[in-house]
Amino acid sequence: MEGGKRACVIGAGGFIASWIVTKLLDRGYKVHGTVRDPDDNEKYGHLKKLPGARERLSLFRADVLDYDSLVPAVRGCDVVFHTACPVALKFEDPDAVLKPAMDGTRNVMEACHKGNIKHVVFTSSGAAILFDPNRPPDQIIDESCWSDPEFCRKSKNWYMLAKTESEKLVCKLGDEFGIHVVVICPVFVLGPILQSKINTSAALVANLMNGSKSSYPNTYYSLVDVRDVAEAHIAGYEDPNASGRYYCIACSKLCKEMIETLKEKFPQYQYPHKCEGEITEGNSFEKISNKKILSLVKEFIPYEKTLVDTVTSLQEKGLL
Ligand code: NAP
Repeated sequence: MEGGKRACVIGAGGFIASWIVTKLLDRGYKVHGTVRDPDDNEKYGHLKKLPGARERLSLFRADVLDYDSLVPAVRGCDVVFHTACPVALKFEDPDAVLKPAMDGTRNVMEACHKGNIKHVVFTSSGAAILFDPNRPPDQIIDESCWSDPEFCRKSKNWYMLAKTESEKLVCKLGDEFGIHVVVICPVFVLGPILQSKINTSAALVANLMNGSKSSYPNTYYSLVDVRDVAEAHIAGYEDPNASGRYYCIACSKLCKEMIETLKEKFPQYQYPHKCEGEITEGNSFEKISNKKILSLVKEFIPYEKTLVDTVTSLQEKGLL
């Protein structure tokens, strides 16, 4: 039990953040959760129902684009978990993601500086690691790899660009302000959802099962369970040896394999008839190293359990 410690989670109502809040409360932390509208019970009611929330969770109204709103939320905290960033497969308007990612991260770090916060754990992404067309094909993918901002810009991958540049920014500001920053770079995150509305990554699973697609490109999905991602964030603060960035990946599965596993466990749904072609993109697990993250997460939740728990949670919430 980490009794007495106080943590702030920026963007507390999100898919990943809700699990960070859950696990912090389980460990006895006092938690400041920032949300954009604490009165929106449909969006944030699940947080108020978490075990320990009544006694130890305070919700703060804050937007990462509003520095002043962040200052009271981080005040008095031992650590700040900055997870907030819009997530979508495609952004038409670059500013829809670049502004909250860049200005938002600067505001969070400046509020931390003002509040004399010494530890920040930042949620980056595999998106900040994977997208480099000039990487030699036999190179092992790990924390040493970065997405190429120029390539992201040219290919209008605004989310990839935002995650890459905001990760660099948080590290630079950490150095400038004397804040110890640990970065978690999760790949595609699945697992049980706690919030009432479906998030982008869980929607991928729903879209494989709800008859909306007749075929799917047979790409590799690099996967990790949301509960392990939350553990990694907390260990990123609690482990005194934690430092730098962590590529947070449990396994890599072809879309075809995912569909087969889902069909076996949940035969009643309507799946795409076929996966298009052979492997079109992505990385098989032989090309990936997750050695570093194993110091924070000792054992990953098996992928079948992740898939089953994702679907069960979507069923329970009437989202599938
Ligand atoms: P999510 O459920 O959509 O959560 C996104 C969060 O960002 C929400 O809490 C949202 O707040 C918050 N946010 C967006 N704009 C904001 C703003 N202007 N001010 C304050 N909060 C704002 O998605 P998620 O999957 O949990 O993603 C959380 C983080 O993980 C993101 O940084 C994402 O890039 C990263 N990530 C996700 C995945 C994945 O597969 N899911 C993989 C790698 C990295 P509201 O509740 O107010 O909307």
